[in-house]
Amino acid sequence: MVSRGRRGTTVLKGLGVKYGATVRKRYSKVYSALKQKRRCPKCSSLQFRRIVIGIWHCSKCNFKVAGGAYNVEAQKLRR
Ligand SMILES: [Zn+2]
Repeated sequence: MVSRGRRGTTVLKGLGVKYGATVRKRYSKVYSALKQKRRCPKCSSLQFRRIVIGIWHCSKCNFKVAGGAYNVEAQKLRR
């Protein structure tokens, strides 16, 4: 198989050819989960983001919650 993906198959450009395809694929999955827009559970604004690993914060109502490192529901990524 010499099929080579076109540019933009993975979310992440920085990794390049390093670390092998499996890791890159996994990383881009995690990365897109991280960058996904999500609503604040309290005020349902879209300003709800992860500020540091495991801590999610809404800049609108100042709601802060501990969650997964890359997703609010950490269990969803296991699989
Ligand atoms: Zn909020």
